[in-house]
Amino acid sequence: MAILNIVTFPEPSLRLKAKQVTKFDTELQTLVDNMFETLRAAPGVGLAAPQIGESLRLVVVEYTEDEDENAKPKKYVLVNPEIIKRSEEMVTDVEGCLSLPGLAGRVERHQAVTVKAKNRFGKPLKIEAQDWLARIFQHEIDHLDGVLYIDRAEEVFELTPEEAEQITD
Ligand code: ZN
Repeated sequence: MAILNIVTFPEPSLRLKAKQVTKFDTELQTLVDNMFETLRAAPGVGLAAPQIGESLRLVVVEYTEDEDENAKPKKYVLVNPEIIKRSEEMVTDVEGCLSLPGLAGRVERHQAVTVKAKNRFGKPLKIEAQDWLARIFQHEIDHLDGVLYIDRAEEVFELTPEEAEQITD
C-alpha cells in the first residue's frame, strides 16, 4: 500500500467533473486500498479520488459514529455514487477539507440523504445516511462534480494550527 499525495486548492483537477468508473479490476482495488491508507494518515474521514489527482467517481469514507475511541470505524467505498433522496430538513455545521488545509466553513447540508452507488467490486448498494455521515457523503460527492465546500459555505474562516487538528474531514 502507499500513501498518495493529496492535491490542494487551487489545483485544477479539483474542479473537473470526474469520470465514471467502468472497470472493477485490481488497479481499482489498489487505488481504494491506497486511498484508505492516505485518509488514515492525513487523518480525515472522507476522501474523493479527484483529491489524489484521479478524475474518477470514487469516494472512500472511514468514520467512527460516536466519540468512544473503542468504537469501530465504519468504512464505505462509493463507486459512481448518486444522491437519490434528500431530506427537506437542512442543518448548518462546520466542515473542513483535506484539499483546503487551514480553513473551515459553515455549510448548510441536507440532514439526511440516500445514496445509491456500487461497492469496490461493482455490487450495487444503497445507504441511508443521517447527520454527520450524510454531511460527509454530500461533501465527498460534491468533489466528483468539481464542487468544494467553499462554494456553498455561508462563511469561511482560517484555523489556528490547534483548531486545524480538531477538524480533519
Ligand atoms: Zn473535501
